[in-house]
Formats: sequence, C-alpha cells, structure tokens
Amino acid sequence: MTIEIRNGIVIAWNGERHEVINPGVVVFEGNEIIFVGTAYDGVSDEVIDATGRIVMPGLINSHLHVTDTPFTQGYLEDIGDKGPAGGSTNLVSLYKVLPEVRHATDPDAQIAAAQCAFAELVRTGSTTVVELGYDYEIGGDGDIALTERVAEVAGRMGLRCYSGPRYRTRHYGQNPDGTVFYEDYPDQGRGRFEACVEFCEQWNGRFDDRLRTMLAPGQVDTCDAELLKDTRRTADALHLPIQLHAGQSLNEFRRIRATENRTTVEYLEECGLLGPDFIIGHGQIISDDGDANSMAAHEVTALRDSRTTICHLPWVKARRGNVINSIQKYRDLGIRQCLGTDTFPFDLFNDMRMAAVVCKIVEQAADAAPSEDVFAMATTGGADALGRPDLGRLAPGCRADIVLVRVDTPKAAPVYDPFKFLVLAATGEDIDRVIVDGRTIVQNGEVQTLDVADAVRRLNDASKRVWAQLDL
Ligand SMILES: [Zn+2]
Repeated sequence: MTIEIRNGIVIAWNGERHEVINPGVVVFEGNEIIFVGTAYDGVSDEVIDATGRIVMPGLINSHLHVTDTPFTQGYLEDIGDKGPAGGSTNLVSLYKVLPEVRHATDPDAQIAAAQCAFAELVRTGSTTVVELGYDYEIGGDGDIALTERVAEVAGRMGLRCYSGPRYRTRHYGQNPDGTVFYEDYPDQGRGRFEACVEFCEQWNGRFDDRLRTMLAPGQVDTCDAELLKDTRRTADALHLPIQLHAGQSLNEFRRIRATENRTTVEYLEECGLLGPDFIIGHGQIISDDGDANSMAAHEVTALRDSRTTICHLPWVKARRGNVINSIQKYRDLGIRQCLGTDTFPFDLFNDMRMAAVVCKIVEQAADAAPSEDVFAMATTGGADALGRPDLGRLAPGCRADIVLVRVDTPKAAPVYDPFKFLVLAATGEDIDRVIVDGRTIVQNGEVQTLDVADAVRRLNDASKRVWAQLDL
C-alpha cells in the first residue's frame, strides 16, 4: 500500500541537514519512505491532504523513565534542600524523593504509569522513545518481569521503543544532614546484569523490529569499573547501544574523583565506554564548575573523537534550579548531542524550547542554540546516537515515522520559518497525526491504540496506593 502525503510544509532530509520543501510531498510504502520532493508522479493508493500542516520526522526522545516518574508529578517539584554548609544543593528530589517513590510503586501501578506515559509520548510526537527501566532493588536480583510487561505495552501501542533495563552495583540515598550515602549490594548486582543481558538478547527486534534493546548501567557513581567494562564487552559482542546516567550533579563528579581519582570523562574512557554507540544521559556536570569549557583538552578530544553523544534533559534540570552550560558550547566543541524528557511532561517540544531558551539565557546571546540545531538534536541527534540513519529524517529508505503538526491556527499563522515555530512556539498539543512504521497511531490528536481514559483511571487509582506509602 502506497500512501502519499501532499500539500504540507515538509521538513525533508537532504543528506546533510533538514531543509524545508513548501509545498512538499512524502510518499511511503508499508513502513518505508520511498519519495520526498515537490511532486510525485507514481501511483498512490491513498492520499493524506496535509494542507495547513508541517510534515516532519518523528522525534527521538533519547532518555526517559515511564514506570515511576509519573508518580512524582506534583510531588517532587518546588522542593529544595540545604547542604551541611547551608547553601542550596537541590539534591533532595534526585537522592531522596525519587528512590522512595520507586520503592512505593507496585507492578500494576507501574504498568498504568507506562501506558499513560507512552500515550503522552506518542501523542506529542515522540515516535522513538528510549525507556531506561527501573532500578535493581525494585526488580530484585534477576527479576525482569516488569521490563517485559512494559516492552509489551510499547510494542502493542505501536511505538518504536529502545528498552534498557537498569543494573548497578550499589544504590544511593540522602542522609538526614543532606549529604548523599552510597551502599553496595551484597552480591554486586551480578544476577541482575545477567538477567538484563538475557532480556536484551531475547527481545531485540520484536514487534516487527520496533522494539530494540540497549544496555543501561544505572549511574556512573553506582557502577563499579568491572561492571562498566563488562557492559562494553557485552555491547560489542551483541551490537547493542549503551546509555548511562552521568553528569547529574556536582556530588557525583566529586564522588568519582574521590573514589576513582579521575574526572568523570577520564573514568568513562578508562572503562572503555566512550564510542559512537554510547550515550551519556544528562552530561551536565562533567567538570568542576559545570561549564563545558572547563573540561581539559584531552577530555574534549576523548568525547569528540569517540563520537560519544550527550543526551540533554533541560526541563528536569531547570526545574531543579540547574542549567546546562551550554548546548552551544558542546556544539562548538564538536561533541554530539541529543535530547530527552527524562520525566513528565513527556512532551519533547517542551524540552526543545527549554534547550534553546536556557542556552540563550546562559550565553546571554539570542543567536545561541538556533532552532535548526535544537531540532536536529531531537531528531538526527538521537537517531545517530542509536546508530539509526533510517530514523529522525524524512528521506527515501527511512522508516515511515512521520508527524503532522497543525499550523492552520491563530497561534501558528503566519509560518515564516517552520524550525522556529516548532522549537520556540509549538507544543505537542499542535499535533494532528502521528505515523509510526507506516501505521497511524495518533489521529486528530488522539491515540488510537490504547483505551486512554481507562489507563488514566487506573493511574489515578494506583497513585493513591503509592502516595499512601510515602512519608517524606
Ligand atoms: Zn534518567
């Protein structure tokens, strides 16, 4: 079946960058794009009229957690804390609230959260999502049952999902005095690692190859060097990408320096992790002062030449009173970047706008983080990090992951520069239709593959159970 989308403002891929074709045509057959241009002279079985629509590639949301973070909505924002020296540390949400909420969830609650999160993700244009599971101590040694259920949910709903169940050798939390403690697991989490690898092997490529797997060691400060080196060996053997949380806080940077006698980048390099298939989730504090330009020359070279990708999560950072300093500096240093939402809201348009605006504020320059660069982070940046030249772009041979955005609205008119509208003005609410792998998943802004009202009801019910257990 050949479907032609015509009369839209098309964000096409010219082999090097996105460019606008207005009006343009996109044609796909099955799950593959076969034509992008100004006029199609072949025969199509169906025509989608995209008058008043931007036709853009589906967004790649490169870092998020669907099973537990929804329960922190309304619960962990607007709270800060003081360190022993009296200054604001803003550690409480990461090191205290989040772990305690995770402990209070149960499998049915986590599935309801996953369904609502996936619905919101696809409704707002994220056609590929990177779901970095739940922590070791929640699943228990070797328990991967919940990861399988979540993967089933994503697969049945029709999203393209990278599932990365997490493992680690220790966990962390916050002491009453505001400092952070670390505690090793008795068995070093080895059983969990092996279960994650087994899951990755067995589930990679399911759901018509929309489900892929990745290795996800928890955080740079919760994994010992042996586990990280094993991660690299396994990734090379199984051809899986890797994502690790690193650069989340100054506490973490100082911890790595104290325990490993190295900076974070030096430690990651020593463990062999850096590479084109490696994503650093957060990557905000990887120098003493959180300024990308404070990295030593050999660290910049290591990140740049290995083609490692930093996944920025600007909204969750800004909400904690932190800024990324800055995505323009990372770009100028030649370091690859992508974008994710991490937690709620799962609307990547929100993070595109935050990425751009926070950078302009930090750099005090209106021309920092131009819209085309930020749009590339949310599309080709993520696709390249996952080793997927067939995603994040509209070009023949790419997967038919296509989003139609309404611009026939008072908000959008007149459209002079589609990139600036998409990054600096649009939200997921402007989306009309979402196609993943050639199949329409969202139509008239509504998810077609899930009983959304039922999922919302179950999530609300589950939240009562979860919040009743919390005493924060
Ligand atoms: Zn995360």
